[in-house]
Amino acid sequence: MSVAAIVVAAGQGERFGGPKQFAVLDHDSVTGHSVRASRSVAERVILVVPMNYQGHGEGADAVVVGGSTRAASVRAGLLECGDVDVVVVHDAARPMASAALFQAVVGAVLAGADGAIPGLAITDTVKRIVRDGEATVVGETVARDELVTVQTPQAFRRELLEKAHAASDDATDDAALVEAIGGRVVVVAGEVDNVKITVPGDLLKASAIGMKR
Ligand code: C5P
Repeated sequence: MSVAAIVVAAGQGERFGGPKQFAVLDHDSVTGHSVRASRSVAERVILVVPMNYQGHGEGADAVVVGGSTRAASVRAGLLECGDVDVVVVHDAARPMASAALFQAVVGAVLAGADGAIPGLAITDTVKRIVRDGEATVVGETVARDELVTVQTPQAFRRELLEKAHAASDDATDDAALVEAIGGRVVVVAGEVDNVKITVPGDLLKASAIGMKR
């Protein structure tokens, strides 16, 4: 079975105050770490970058310009995947994902799932909120044992991922598009250390955890 990885790095990093994915973390760019981790399962790694990217590919095999949404950026990467069996999509902004996590999601697809994603149990209490005039008030307390927060890398059968992207326009992750066309997406154990670099403090958090590769 052949595997390609798409590392999406075409965001503007508005909450970070600049393109967080090219910030330096432990002697490499955030994206460089993500590309290297993707290589643990993929024979071809495609990096999707913003229009104004001036780097040298961060170690990827192909570099393409992304779109105005994350889903559009994934679609740009899909065009470069060739006819591989499995595609792994990874947010460049998650440089700490381990090789074992990549192997777990790809392994679940090789074992028959349409897709596989890492999920983490929620430890905080979760409440649905509603507006009440000027105030925000609790609508209800949600049963958290049925909820997970979801990470990347996410792996899919390529043909199904292509079909999912052709059928809908946007979603915050690829699994949502695959679910929407009836795909069976398996949840594997996520990693607490697989932090997403969103605000500058997250870079400090990632530094403190330390790269294990
Ligand atoms: O915005 P958010 O943090 O959810 O982005 C997740 C990942 O998707 C980041 O690695 C970001 O660079 C990428 N992205 C992209 N194209 C966009 C928006 C986000 O490749 N238009």
